[in-house]
Amino acid sequence: MTILIQILSGVLIGYGVLCVSESASHHHFLHAGPRIRKFWQRMGAMGSYVHNSWYSHHVVHHYRTFCQDHVTQFRSREEEIALREDLTLRGKRQIALNSYGLRVGSFKEFIKYVYPHVPHYALLCFWGGPWFSLGALLPVLFYQWLAHFAHPYLHMNYAQALHTASPWMLPFLRSRYFRFLAQHHFLHHKYVHCNFNLLLGGDLIWRKQRLPSPEDYIEMQALGMYVAPENRQTSDVNLIQTP
Ligand SMILES: [Zn+2]
Ligand SMILES: [Zn+2]
Ligand SMILES: [Zn+2]
Repeated sequence: MTILIQILSGVLIGYGVLCVSESASHHHFLHAGPRIRKFWQRMGAMGSYVHNSWYSHHVVHHYRTFCQDHVTQFRSREEEIALREDLTLRGKRQIALNSYGLRVGSFKEFIKYVYPHVPHYALLCFWGGPWFSLGALLPVLFYQWLAHFAHPYLHMNYAQALHTASPWMLPFLRSRYFRFLAQHHFLHHKYVHCNFNLLLGGDLIWRKQRLPSPEDYIEMQALGMYVAPENRQTSDVNLIQTP
């Protein structure tokens, strides 16, 4: 019984800590401002690691793909080829292999996602003991599962997501968690400096959580993303919106 409680508290406390630090690290590493980037560029190998993850996420995933809209990675085959060639020239071919930041990719990339959380997470596990640590491992795996397997579905219209998903993925895609996360992530791409979490919750602590406006709902609806019936905008609103 006490073992079960230790594992459970590992899951809960681990989730709490990880979602708060995920939001912060996504904000300050993956979307680092010019000052922080200058600092890291002077820090040698460790610094170029950080700089590369910023490039992969902020530059490539946010601004050099999904330019047309949130659910279209490339406008054309030519656009993809041009980006791949440019990344190759810059010595960043790995980014193309990781679906241009849409997936985690390899084990090396897994490290890139989790390293900012290692120091305090290790301390937490040291404090909690082995059963606690076992539980605390689950949110880390869930986070990486989201980043690798669920993130591509956040960039699809809902019908396409349901159509392409494996039977294993379907229950998750129908869950409230996914439906909320899809809107949350849409707003992250639209406004960038909000809604950093895949592990929902941490953005609230940093006061960086943003909810959709009526205009946002109209946009998501037009892209075929899931919008709850009570938030669906009627065609009258659409008429008012068009000048
Ligand atoms: Zn981002
Ligand atoms: Zn994304
Ligand atoms: Zn910011």
